[in-house]
Amino acid sequence: MSENGILVVSEDDCKRLMDAEAAFDAVKDVFGRMASGEARNFPVVREAIGYADALYGFKSGFDRGSMTLGVKGGGYWPGNTAQGLTNHQSTVCLFDADTGRLSALVGGNYLTAIRTAAASAVSIAALSRQDSKVLGMIGAGHQAGFQLRAAVEQRNFEKVVAWNYHPEYLPNLGNVAAEVGLPFETPVIEEVCAQADVIITITSSFQPLLMNHWIQPGTHIACMGTDTRGKQEVESKLLASAKVFTDEIDQSTSIGEAQHAFAEGLIAKEQITPLGEVINGAHPGRSQSGDITLFDSTGVGLQDLPCLLNRA
Ligand code: NAD
Repeated sequence: MSENGILVVSEDDCKRLMDAEAAFDAVKDVFGRMASGEARNFPVVREAIGYADALYGFKSGFDRGSMTLGVKGGGYWPGNTAQGLTNHQSTVCLFDADTGRLSALVGGNYLTAIRTAAASAVSIAALSRQDSKVLGMIGAGHQAGFQLRAAVEQRNFEKVVAWNYHPEYLPNLGNVAAEVGLPFETPVIEEVCAQADVIITITSSFQPLLMNHWIQPGTHIACMGTDTRGKQEVESKLLASAKVFTDEIDQSTSIGEAQHAFAEGLIAKEQITPLGEVINGAHPGRSQSGDITLFDSTGVGLQDLPCLLNRA
């Protein structure tokens, strides 16, 4: 729908226009352009508003490759599920890069889910072992099903093992595993780590859930949940023993999973590699089958913007 030259793209339009495959390509390309300097993110604002336990903020950027300039505003309202809404709520504004005029208003909820799933899928494609067979899922909320669906496109997984802080959510994730034709087991968290070749963490935890010594050599971990100061999904020592990759280094050490290890002096910025460098061929990524690789996904505005313009 167009209002006074401003394109209005609803959540339903996004579902019609975008799919997981297009999101994968768009996210992979923009990570590459971020690493080459063609696309740039601006500093994130992400704060607790002191009401409704909400985390609210803005992510923005400019991608010269697609001439996309925009901002995603919104955040995380943990009480929404009880009202029949998803906890993550966001809206994207796109601007004309030549004039600064508003060009589009786009629902950001579905896009957030598919671009976040695309980011972990891109990391799995770039960093996990080719012979990965078992997918471990930590988390079973709204994003988890999208994550599982995108991950299984990247490797020939034979089984999903999952753990969640709220075990009552696990059957929903089990239904997604059944839809993609994979057996689904729910062992204790240590056993998920012992069995999995690839682990995706996608929770809103503020405490480490995965311990360093539980992780097997050769594992790839996509840490997707930590996108705010204070959040944490894995023990900080794991960042020191893994090869660490991220969407953006400054966000990784300030709002991402690496924030704790960085604050404790266990990891320096120089030891964190932008995933785009692996995509562009400037970094080899995993060099040995026994490497533990960790992708710290903080979520960058540029992930949302190119996804849209390619299709709108
Ligand atoms: P959701 O509210 O639907 O699910 C939250 C998940 O966290 C559930 O599995 C829940 O059981 C679990 N959880 C809740 N409290 C917990 C606790 N104290 N300890 C451990 N686990 C707990 O949320 P969602 O939309 O699925 O998002 C999950 C997380 O991913 C959020 O933290 C969100 O901010 C983050 N996220 C990151 C990106 C990114 O780009 N990296 C994008 C979207 C969402």
